[in-house]
Amino acid sequence: MGAYQVLIVGAGFAGSEAAYRLARAGVRVGLLTQSLDSVMMPFLPPKPPFPPGSLLEQAYDPGDERLWAFHARAKYLLEGEKNLHLFQATATGLLREGERVVGVDTWEGPSVAADRVVLAVGSFLGARLHLGEVEEEAGRLSEASYPDLFQHLLDLGFRFLPREASVPETPSTPGYRVRYHAFHPEEWEEATFRLPRLKGLYAVGLCVREGPYALMSQEGLRLAEHLLHELG
Ligand SMILES: Cc1cc2nc3c(=O)[nH]c(=O)nc-3n(C[C@H](O)[C@H](O)[C@H](O)COP(=O)(O)OP(=O)(O)OC[C@H]3O[C@@H](n4cnc5c(N)ncnc54)[C@H](O)[C@@H]3O)c2cc1C
Repeated sequence: MGAYQVLIVGAGFAGSEAAYRLARAGVRVGLLTQSLDSVMMPFLPPKPPFPPGSLLEQAYDPGDERLWAFHARAKYLLEGEKNLHLFQATATGLLREGERVVGVDTWEGPSVAADRVVLAVGSFLGARLHLGEVEEEAGRLSEASYPDLFQHLLDLGFRFLPREASVPETPSTPGYRVRYHAFHPEEWEEATFRLPRLKGLYAVGLCVREGPYALMSQEGLRLAEHLLHELG
């Protein structure tokens, strides 16, 4: 049995929501993310309506639209959950025993063991950010996208589709575009969240379906319900 019952890679809207719900239901959850400074970090301020009872709803403050403050409230709630371990690391590949995923390798060195692994990596697979003439390996402004996990998944035979989204200019940030990859629809089972090429592997959020924050949060909650059912 792994150290975590469920290990979620990526503390964005979908991964954080799933982790929070699972931990509150008593599941031992690891939530691994490449930067603790970007836990549940929006591109632009989230706007209601939100799924009732969600972490997104709890972290939202209509009187405070600062992105940093929204992130800080969400991180505070996640860190207060006793069954949830939020930590900083960058997943570079999947640890496998035969056809089963048993954890992840990290860029920092230590591997992390788990019974089930969820990829919730948003717009960070093979991502390029375009800002005017500048092109960077980044999944959002000021956040690098490292090539290892995407290359590892390609090496395992996973197929992807290219995607693109843009952020309009605001008084404090320039407009920019992000090109990234999402799993090919044939790689993902919508009802179970499984990536059936390997056992014990799941995906949620923008890396499998497009949509706004509220949908990402809703999908995180739906994944949690599915895993709670599987775990009995
Ligand atoms: C450019 C752009 C702008 C958007 N703007 C909006 C908007 O204004 N409003 C809206 O409603 N929706 C917007 N969306 C759509 C979508 O709702 C958001 O992208 C949302 O953040 C997706 O949630 P997520 O949980 O799937 O991914 P994210 O919130 O992006 O979270 C993914 C997390 O995974 C982490 N991660 C990635 N790779 C690794 C790794 N190898 N190891 C560890 N951690 C890793 C990242 O650090 C990140 O924290 C936008 C999408 C894009 C691409």
